[in-house]
Amino acid sequence: TEKQESYKRVLLKVSGEALMGKAASGVDPDMIDMVAADIAEVVRSGVQVCLVVGGGNIFRGLSAAAKGMDRAQGDYAGMLATVINALMLQNGLERQGLETRVMTAIQMASIAEPYIRRRAVRHMEKGRVVIFAAGTGNPFFTTDTAAALRANEMECDALFKGTQVDGIYSDDPRRNPDATRYDRLTYMDVLSQQLNVMDAAAISLARENKLPIVVFNMHAPGAFGAVVRSEGLFTKVV
Ligand code: UDP
Repeated sequence: TEKQESYKRVLLKVSGEALMGKAASGVDPDMIDMVAADIAEVVRSGVQVCLVVGGGNIFRGLSAAAKGMDRAQGDYAGMLATVINALMLQNGLERQGLETRVMTAIQMASIAEPYIRRRAVRHMEKGRVVIFAAGTGNPFFTTDTAAALRANEMECDALFKGTQVDGIYSDDPRRNPDATRYDRLTYMDVLSQQLNVMDAAAISLARENKLPIVVFNMHAPGAFGAVVRSEGLFTKVV
């Protein structure tokens, strides 16, 4: 069993799909409230939290490219989708009484701060939740890679990836009942077995900086708090 970790600063990757909840697309307000309440609990326990939000519930460059759109152009649209999610999440966090800042990798000065690393660190030191939007600011990347990048830049103790299942499995557990769950994996295991959890660029970035990745199921109230306390089921990649 895992020894009790004590995290001081963490990054939570919230995918667009996680915000969709039971909705067919877009954002489910109940999910925003649940995720925000979870984050608030962790912040109040004294852990500094920053977030990277995805945009897949609204727009994905790759899907648009499959239908004939220019890939880079589609990716820029995808990055804008993450800003929409970031604003909704910011609002949810503020309803919990938290102080927040949205920082965008693509400048949008009237609605969010531009991403400046040292300023982001200061926000976190003051207990503000920083939401990183617009991914890396570059097409051909994903918000998972943005999460690994920002977690390294912020010197986070770990990257938490909230998913629909309680960790990394040998196969998709929703389709294959024989799939087995791993408690612990190495970065190389994930890369060489092509385990479908984050893209290779994200795993490589984490590996180079020995950033632990913790994969857990975000779909229950209190799930984020529990995994930060190393409770319940999760897979740790080290
Ligand atoms: N995207 C991008 N560069 C980045 C991050 C995201 O071009 O650094 C685009 C890409 O088109 C992607 C979309 O934004 O499909 C939404 O992000 P992602 O698919 O990672 O969101 P998630 O799956 O986490 O909801």
